[in-house]
Amino acid sequence: MREYSLAAIPGDGIGPEVIAAGLQVLAASAAVDGGFRLAVERFDWNSENFLKRGHYIPEGGLERLRSFDAIFFGAVGSLEVADHVSLWGLRLPIAQGFDQYANVRPARLLPGIKSPLANGADIDWVIIRENSEGEYAGHGGRAHRGLPIEVGTETAVFTRAGVQRIHRFAFELARKRPRRQLTLVTKSNAQRFGMVMWDEIFFEVARDYPDVRTDRELVDAVTTRMVLKPKSLDVVVATNLHADILSDLAAALSGSLGIGATANLNPERQFPSMFEPIHGSAFDITGKGIANPIATFWTASMMLEHLGEAAAARRLMQAIEATTAAGVHTPDLGGNATTRDVTDAVCGALRS
Ligand code: ATP
Repeated sequence: MREYSLAAIPGDGIGPEVIAAGLQVLAASAAVDGGFRLAVERFDWNSENFLKRGHYIPEGGLERLRSFDAIFFGAVGSLEVADHVSLWGLRLPIAQGFDQYANVRPARLLPGIKSPLANGADIDWVIIRENSEGEYAGHGGRAHRGLPIEVGTETAVFTRAGVQRIHRFAFELARKRPRRQLTLVTKSNAQRFGMVMWDEIFFEVARDYPDVRTDRELVDAVTTRMVLKPKSLDVVVATNLHADILSDLAAALSGSLGIGATANLNPERQFPSMFEPIHGSAFDITGKGIANPIATFWTASMMLEHLGEAAAARRLMQAIEATTAAGVHTPDLGGNATTRDVTDAVCGALRS
């Protein structure tokens, strides 16, 4: 029996609700498969405990986490803690500390789900987000605090090695998809240093992938293309900030933020990778039992794939699709199903 260790960090808001649902579905996947089991350890690193303890991650916490095969993450963010404190206190130290530089965000209109777009069925994208530097490198500062001459800087940091490895990752992924198409997204007309370097390195790396069709788009222009010509896109590679924004749009166009899944990968596998829904804490629905768990199930499927359980990953994705096709939808998708209804339906589909 193959065994994988899984660190579950439910976090804040609806995080605990969707992670509990996700663990249930993963347990059902393992039971149906029969060839592997998951040893799950839960970590109570969240904002409530931050307020009590003064830290999200305790001393030695990252070293402990390092020994796991994968991390299953819910959400972080609380009304009582400033967003930049919670994000930099929990999610970013893991993603950056474990060099999870490739953030993979698939978007596809699942059966039975309505897109706000007339041609939403054409959505079948993977957005690759550079996840270790760029606009979120944490480079900047403030001076003259509180004075009229106060200044704040936020410097994006792009390294040749960082840009090269994300482009290479994107080309490798694009090569495995039927359409083999990769769109480079930057803003190199207005930002003429780091962004121009991104473009240059992209076309250098492209020489090694003659089988992948490439094109380029400015980040503002690609939003219109996503809405008006969804079929014209396949794989998209963009910076940390740009891809963050594009993937929220992609999730909304595929029906709801409650669908969008993401994998934070350390492709070299020197560190564990982290799997999470793209949505946040969603305070407006926390505790109501109506959070859409599909994003979490989808990321669980990506996690199984990453762990080497491709058949189980495929089976889980089919169970998700059978559930959405059957109209078992939470309110964000216009239905009246609860988190539990969707979870039970997916577990049922797995077993049938
Ligand atoms: P963050 O900045 O942490 O990513 P956010 O500001 O994007 O968070 P979310 O917490 O993701 O905000 O919520 C945005 C909206 O989407 C809210 O109205 C929320 O209820 C809805 N939403 C997010 N996730 C889900 C979900 N899983 N199921 C149903 N609705 C959701």
